[in-house]
Amino acid sequence: MQLVFATNNRNKLQEVQKLIPAHIKLLSLDDIGCSEDIPETQPTIEGNAQQKANYVKEHYGYDCFADDTGLEVEALHGEPGVFSARYAGAQRNAQDNMDLLLKNLDGKPNRNAQFKTVIALHLNKESQTFTGICKGQITTEKHGNDGFGYDPIFKPDGFTQTFAEMTLEQKNQIGHRGKAVLQLVEFLNGL
Ligand code: IMP
Repeated sequence: MQLVFATNNRNKLQEVQKLIPAHIKLLSLDDIGCSEDIPETQPTIEGNAQQKANYVKEHYGYDCFADDTGLEVEALHGEPGVFSARYAGAQRNAQDNMDLLLKNLDGKPNRNAQFKTVIALHLNKESQTFTGICKGQITTEKHGNDGFGYDPIFKPDGFTQTFAEMTLEQKNQIGHRGKAVLQLVEFLNGL
């Protein structure tokens, strides 16, 4: 059985491939000849994940899954959320995004936030979603050099380090994406 993971990130693809039954062969967008930008125009993280999965199914005919992630900050009414990648503008720059978030939270005592990953799966004419959440706090300064995106200013609950001060293994164990992938893998293993 073939299943498309709507990504061109080979690392993500290999990581998931290792976790699912061998008879399910994962294909990337490259593998199916999809090189165009898939629209992500929905107002929610769930909607964008579903939009990407639907696009692959409709245009290429493959069963597939797609993921979308956002950082939701309580004191900013869930922002940047679906706009996480381009919070500070179309340049999609992580430093600019973090600087803007720190500025918008300046003086606000409530630093609660969560990362949310939604994976939308289209399989055998049925669709469903898997959600992984990691709750934590936005720090007042950047700490650490690893990871990407907002990792230097996100401290998961129960830890003293930010995501950017953790190894990838540590982050995957407690992180939003790891949790969503685990649910997908459990589902595929149960088929
Ligand atoms: P995507 O849906 O995985 O492309 O994520 C959208 C945006 O959310 C990224 O461009 C990052 O700004 C942010 N983001 C997603 N996952 C993470 C993470 O694990 N750590 C920090 N930032 C993230």
